[in-house]
Amino acid sequence: MKKITLLIWNRMTRSQIFNLKILISVAFITSICFTACFLVFNNTSHKQTNILDSRSALSFEPVPKLSQNNDNYSHYELSVIMDEVNSFVEGNLTVNFYNNDLINLSQIPFHLYLSGMKYQTRPGVIEIINITDKDNPSLALDFEVFSDQQIMWVNLTNDLEPENYAEFIIKFNATLPDGPYDRANSHGADILNARIYKFTGFYPIACVYDNEDGWNIDPYLHVGDPFYFDMAYYDFYIEVPDAMLLAVSGALQDKEHLGSTIRYHYNTSYPVREVTFSASRYFQVESKLVNGVNVSIFYLFKSSSIWSSNGLKYAEQALLLFNETFGKYPYYSLNLVEEYTEYGGMEYPTQVYCTEAIDGWGGDLSYRLWWFELIVVHEISHQWWYNLIGNDEVDIGFLDEGFAEWSTGYYGESYYGSWEYFQTLDYSYHQLAPYIERVRMYYHNELLQSKINQSTYEFISSNTDYYFASYRKAPLILEKLRQTIGHLNFIEGVRLYFETWKFKHATLKDLQDIFEFVNKSSLAWFFLPWYNNPYLPAYRFSNNYDYNADNGTLSLTIRDVSEPANKYPYSQQVPLEIYNTNNQKFYSELMWINSTTTIRIELSQIPKIARLSYNNYVLVQLDNPSKLYLDLILTNIGTTILGFELGILTLSSIMSMGLIIYLTRRKLRVAIK
Ligand SMILES: [Zn+2]
Repeated sequence: MKKITLLIWNRMTRSQIFNLKILISVAFITSICFTACFLVFNNTSHKQTNILDSRSALSFEPVPKLSQNNDNYSHYELSVIMDEVNSFVEGNLTVNFYNNDLINLSQIPFHLYLSGMKYQTRPGVIEIINITDKDNPSLALDFEVFSDQQIMWVNLTNDLEPENYAEFIIKFNATLPDGPYDRANSHGADILNARIYKFTGFYPIACVYDNEDGWNIDPYLHVGDPFYFDMAYYDFYIEVPDAMLLAVSGALQDKEHLGSTIRYHYNTSYPVREVTFSASRYFQVESKLVNGVNVSIFYLFKSSSIWSSNGLKYAEQALLLFNETFGKYPYYSLNLVEEYTEYGGMEYPTQVYCTEAIDGWGGDLSYRLWWFELIVVHEISHQWWYNLIGNDEVDIGFLDEGFAEWSTGYYGESYYGSWEYFQTLDYSYHQLAPYIERVRMYYHNELLQSKINQSTYEFISSNTDYYFASYRKAPLILEKLRQTIGHLNFIEGVRLYFETWKFKHATLKDLQDIFEFVNKSSLAWFFLPWYNNPYLPAYRFSNNYDYNADNGTLSLTIRDVSEPANKYPYSQQVPLEIYNTNNQKFYSELMWINSTTTIRIELSQIPKIARLSYNNYVLVQLDNPSKLYLDLILTNIGTTILGFELGILTLSSIMSMGLIIYLTRRKLRVAIK
């Protein structure tokens, strides 16, 4: 073959070779252009392929820490005696600490959160009296308290090897801050039958050691929930005056009358991340057995119009739905307790709190009940997303809050028909927009970026809004994932996530792995941009569009002008609509817009307007909440059509001229004859 080619080449003249070179070059350039166009069209007219991922999407292997591989957990016996007058407990924490990490430990740090909490006149404090060896009470362990960080380091007498236990007893006193601001306090007047003692973060809680950070010794932070604990078994003993009513993590095992006091014993049966209790002489209590779980509510008489029967009903509905949807709640008790605080509510294992401030919120009862139900459902969902599946809330607090908000929406969808039920409220005195609108308008309104995947420290240093990213945008991204992979796949993924990671700690990557397994393909193209980019996509049509009237083909290019400011290109399906010269829609198709995208479509009519429709959960940056589309007026289509008509005109003119010349010459010839 090579020989023949050379032969032909040798026999060609110089000008023939020159012409052939030009021909080959043109063919080469044309083929490149064709290939490029094919690639562009191929990329845009099909479902998103793996543009960002090199990992295998079809398998995931959870790599849990040691404690999460077996049934070994730390065990704590927490025993407190309450001093009502001084809002104080005298405590003993018997620690049976299990080393679930692959290193020898010589020290163990504990959180002492109370002193970091807000107060009015009396600060909270955990005072460590002493630490002694469990088997040899005369052997004291050294410890050091760093009150600024609310951290205590306990020095072990011997190095603790992996999969071994260290046993010691911490004797401490804890005083509650006065309220009504933070997560722990005593507040309310006895004369109004309204005093509540709320004990949370009131005892030394062991820090978590992990591969990412080593020891997590973060202080009590006022942005987000800073809680990150290993699971542990708890036996909890509380001695209180006999008229005091208690709401406690765990199920009541027994009680012992000791003169004017009663000593109660609670046990959580399964591991939990921490325990809490609340005490009041004035609690109204209602209980109901729901699928073997003793559901109880504790509230003040003054709040009866909101709490009575409603609290129990909402808690029951949430428990039933989340049990059925996510996986079984394993504990035997679930409490909903009224609290004094600045925020709406707070979650603890088997016990959640809701603020009494709702009593004073304006509007009619239905408005206050709407808020009450929202808070109750959000906090109860945290039993699945915080307690059963734990997250490092300092590094990825958006993960459990995002799920809690998504779950609240799912409750709204299941009982009231809309995932946006708890996002929108239209009272004359209060109007709220759904999250999708708030997220689309966020940059326009706040001029702030809204990257989700940031630690609490990064949110603070970048001056961005943890609350918005975690409670508004994060649930919306989960909902977008549901709309993208379909409801059944999404729910299957959530169930598998729960089943795989309950009693453990999960990361965002673990969640992505689960959904990729369920979806049977990589989802890096979804997770990387939506969780890590600071800005939403902002699409613009390029003016370089083209319409070929011969075959009715329209080519359009869409750019994302946010792309240079983001780390990962976005991909999402967006409806493309085409309108004719009578402004009638004659074409509508879902298009994948992957970064800058060229779309080529064949049309049956002459197009006038191309429209990207931002309905459903198309997520784009907007500056007008009601303008849910992007239009391109195809102004030079008329010119193209005119050109086409001119061509015919020219052709017919030439033909006519030819005919005239032919006839004239024939006529002349005839005349000569
Ligand atoms: Zn929450």
